[in-house]
Amino acid sequence: MNAEIIAVGSELLTPHRQDTNSLYLTEKLNDLGVEVRFKCIVGDDAEGLTAAAKLAMRRSDIIIFSGGLGPTEDDLTREAVADGLGLKVQRDPAVLAKLEERFAQRGMKMSANNAKQADILTSATVMPNPLGTAPGQWIAGKYDGQERLVMLLPGPPHELKALFEAECMPRLRTRIPPQHIATRTLKMAMMPESQVDARVAPIYKTYSDVQTTILAGAGEIQLHLRCRKDSPAEAEARVAELAGKIEDELGDAIFSRKGETIEQIVSYLLQMRSMTLAVAESCTGGLLAERITSLSGSSRYFLGGAVVYSNALKTQFANVPKALIDRHGAVSREVAASMAEGIRKRCLASYGIGITGVAGPSGGTEQKPVGLVYIALAGEEGTQVVERNFPGDRKRIRQFATQQALEMIRRALV
Ligand code: AMP
Ligand code: MG
Repeated sequence: MNAEIIAVGSELLTPHRQDTNSLYLTEKLNDLGVEVRFKCIVGDDAEGLTAAAKLAMRRSDIIIFSGGLGPTEDDLTREAVADGLGLKVQRDPAVLAKLEERFAQRGMKMSANNAKQADILTSATVMPNPLGTAPGQWIAGKYDGQERLVMLLPGPPHELKALFEAECMPRLRTRIPPQHIATRTLKMAMMPESQVDARVAPIYKTYSDVQTTILAGAGEIQLHLRCRKDSPAEAEARVAELAGKIEDELGDAIFSRKGETIEQIVSYLLQMRSMTLAVAESCTGGLLAERITSLSGSSRYFLGGAVVYSNALKTQFANVPKALIDRHGAVSREVAASMAEGIRKRCLASYGIGITGVAGPSGGTEQKPVGLVYIALAGEEGTQVVERNFPGDRKRIRQFATQQALEMIRRALV
């Protein structure tokens, strides 16, 4: 079976509001084994909505509308969908009574326009909405000889989710043969997407029954594997087999197999070894400390550190000799190493990290261009420094730099 989602609302066609309902619905439908083939966003426009409804009825088995069920002038989904499907709307006395009761309970008088929320499409089943005034509607029927399931759901995400879970999922389960889906997410840090794909594509291409997708972020690649079979064991076995082969190929480069973030892995490794960490950050301005401390319990291994943006503070807080900065410049291999060693010593930490670079967009020179960052890790066994030329804007360069630092400490700990 395939599905189509139609998000209704003119606000979703502006830069200010995103359609998030369709992401939730897609996840739920995929869990049922239903593929979403089309998504569209339609403004509060009767003609456009009727056209979208007609088109969806021709090409999709399941059609879900979200939004436009409110009481105001611009809420047109009921009438427009009825038009598209060749149905009528009728005011339902029981729904109307419920609406009036809901307002009375809150000591409010229902305004006249709220009554249209009791307009129900002929042949539709009303799905109660305990969190809002607009009930959902469920229509199962034939359209040009084809079986179609149509759902009208309220727009507010918390209402839509509760209603879909309580009313739509059980109905869909009785109509869709059970399918079992196994998934796996493998994550790698600081590897180019093309390099990952060149190494793993020859492997996953031989598993045509496992859907493999690659998602790339700043310094992180995720491989998502997904397999659907008649039994859970069968699905799990296929995903495990492919994941095993990819792990053999990429080895240590994979930092997570269960969806953990790199911060979580670093946290886990530091705690396992009873080790601590301190940081001296220049161009990342505290972003590394922010990422590390976003995890509850990070005080067990993260001691703290300093944002040493000025040269004076690099000397004062991270023991970087002034002469070193004068000789090599603040953005240099030597200063990064000295920052890492200095902060490690001053904080009495097992590991110290130093980051110095040019985040841009201004401040770059021919010798030290925007994106040049030195990341140093100092530990008992010595200090290592990595020089990188990161692409992108200021935000991406800073994200890359912290990702590199986390990957360095992870590598040192595994
Ligand atoms: P409506 O049911 O059209 O009156 O929508 C009520 C509110 O729900 C809107 O103002 C939006 O804030 C929110 N909303 C509607 N559709 C969506 C959607 N597809 N994704 C996320 N939020 C939505
Ligand atoms: Mg709306």
